Amino acid sequence: MTRVHVGLGSNLDDPRRQLESAFEALATLPESVLVARSSLYRSAPMGPADQPDYLNAVAELDTQLAPLALLDALQDIEQAQRRVRSRRWGPRTLDLDLLLYGDRQIDLPRLQVPHPGLHQRCFVLLPLLEVAGDIEIPRRGRVSALLPSCGPPAAFRLDD
Ligand code: ATP
Ligand code: CA
Ligand code: CA
Repeated sequence: MTRVHVGLGSNLDDPRRQLESAFEALATLPESVLVARSSLYRSAPMGPADQPDYLNAVAELDTQLAPLALLDALQDIEQAQRRVRSRRWGPRTLDLDLLLYGDRQIDLPRLQVPHPGLHQRCFVLLPLLEVAGDIEIPRRGRVSALLPSCGPPAAFRLDD
């Protein structure tokens, strides 16, 4: 089993429900166990500003799926929740990013791990800290060392 972290994001069609459904789907992935889920965080959009705010969260899983098989499974979940790709960083019902795959470094055309944006995004680092503690990100350092310089946008934890 390898411990992995997945970033969830949504800003369309009831984002809270989208993330709830995504957590349910992650909990039923083959050869995998959902270990922990973070709180939800709200942030302003990162790219084009003419779109709703985002809700984000992080899931922690143990899996026996290989990295590309896991990416396939994550993209299947996005499709099941009717993600439509439009502009870069445009609005979406569901985005699932593979943030960390154990301590592996992967540099394939379809898959870069650690996720290239992870170390500078508050809306990823804050929920990651919640579930994984002060984890080491290969080549980037510890989450606590990255947080002071993350963002914008700022991210705010929602009440449960
Ligand atoms: P960003 O990656 O900056 O957060 P995005 O999530 O909006 O932007 P997408 O359109 O969801 O980008 O993904 C584009 C491609 O990124 C996917 O088709 C996938 O093959 C590739 N990709 C590379 N590394 C990863 C990763 N670690 N997790 C998910 N997708 C990845
Ligand atoms: Ca993303
Ligand atoms: Ca993505």
